[in-house]
Amino acid sequence: MRAIVIALLLLFLGDFLSTFIYHVPQHVFGRLHLTTHHAGHQGFSHYAVLRVNSAVLLDGCLGALPYLLLGLILATVSPWGAWIGLMIGQLHVWWRHTTALGWQTPPSLQWLCDRLGIVTPERHWQHHRKATIGYGDIFIFFDQPGQQWLRWLRWLRRAHRGLL
Ligand SMILES: [Zn+2]
Ligand SMILES: [Zn+2]
Repeated sequence: MRAIVIALLLLFLGDFLSTFIYHVPQHVFGRLHLTTHHAGHQGFSHYAVLRVNSAVLLDGCLGALPYLLLGLILATVSPWGAWIGLMIGQLHVWWRHTTALGWQTPPSLQWLCDRLGIVTPERHWQHHRKATIGYGDIFIFFDQPGQQWLRWLRWLRRAHRGLL
């Protein structure tokens, strides 16, 4: 029981930190994520960080860093929970990019994920197509606050440029 709670906590907090500290700020101030994850048409191995390419690996590692750090902290409470959380997180990275393989989520699973607020490949693909929507790598819940954070950081960037 404790392991399940810790695994969920890792995924929830990891997604929160990764979205707000790395993913959204990258879309405003960075280039790495845009050039690796959003430019052109790439294959599954590219998006799922299964290809040995330094830029792709770096973007993947930076996005995964909050999960790994949380894993280290939460492992002191439940090593199994931290391990399960990290494994599910990695499996979700692969699963949410299966759209690039032409896979489709069965309607029943799509329905279940919608109810539970879990990001499906189809939903994540909307983010690949349009970078202003579809935030939250695992939980749909982070999409709206993520979009708000994006607007706010863009405003900040414009305001800062206005001062210079
Ligand atoms: Zn992606
Ligand atoms: Zn993105």
